[in-house]
Amino acid sequence: MSERSSLISPAGGDWLRPFHVEGTGVRGVIVRLGPAWRTLAGRDAAPPALLGWLGQCQAAAALFAGDIKLRGGVSVQMRAPSSVGTLFAECTDAGTVRAIARSPRDARPPASLADVGADAVLAITIERTGGLRYQGLVPLQGDRLEHAFEGYFERSEQLPTAIRLVATDTVSAGMLLQQVPGEGGIGARTASADFERLAILFRTLTDEELLSLAPETILRRLFVEDDVRIQPERRLAFGCSCSRERVTAVLRALGEAEVRAALDARGRTEVRCEFCGQAYAFAGADVDALFRPEPTNGPAPGPTRG
Ligand SMILES: [Zn+2]
Repeated sequence: MSERSSLISPAGGDWLRPFHVEGTGVRGVIVRLGPAWRTLAGRDAAPPALLGWLGQCQAAAALFAGDIKLRGGVSVQMRAPSSVGTLFAECTDAGTVRAIARSPRDARPPASLADVGADAVLAITIERTGGLRYQGLVPLQGDRLEHAFEGYFERSEQLPTAIRLVATDTVSAGMLLQQVPGEGGIGARTASADFERLAILFRTLTDEELLSLAPETILRRLFVEDDVRIQPERRLAFGCSCSRERVTAVLRALGEAEVRAALDARGRTEVRCEFCGQAYAFAGADVDALFRPEPTNGPAPGPTRG
């Protein structure tokens, strides 16, 4: 424990740190969520036994958002209808995170991931600003979530990837190591000798180190013989992307009959965001407007020939 002094409580923050290992074609991300994880509103509904997996999903979403350079967000869902329900976590390119457990109150989750049921899957959704959406599904096999995520990158992205996830009641953390596509003349799918070597070192990382050490210290300890360049910290914080427009779209999709059935005695309905608690009220006139046919501005233009 000679490096005790480096334990200067970096666990207090909410951040992600991308890095790359010089000359190897290998990059990575380290993520830690402290206050944001502890105060996540969506946690309240989660049975305590599921908090660990929810926290790991949150760390994974942040890792992937930090790894994939995109305008938009990444969400992760663990779905096991027969035992767990749905765990959902998201991270946007703006650094906002949110998570929720949609589980029956009396859910009795199994002690081990290997027993969540044959219907269990992980879904990884990449949403680009402007609407492009991609979803990958992987079966939830093995005894650790990180192995299922590694399988996703291997099969869907064809990128050799090593992942570590850990979450306690107070801290959620993750680390990813990945071969950069196309570097070093190595084809996709085949791990380079450098990646193999760094991945072996990566697997010596302990949960305790990932939860508590400064990222610079983690990288120095793991890759002592390599030149690792770590990028500046990107702050993460709880944030919700709900809006009246989004809620309106959800109500429209539900259909008029269902929305009218939910109106109270005064002809009003209220929708509460399950992530942040924000309430959106719709009076009778609002509901009428929701389902009024779109006004048309004259006849639709026909095909023109120049
Ligand atoms: Zn919200």
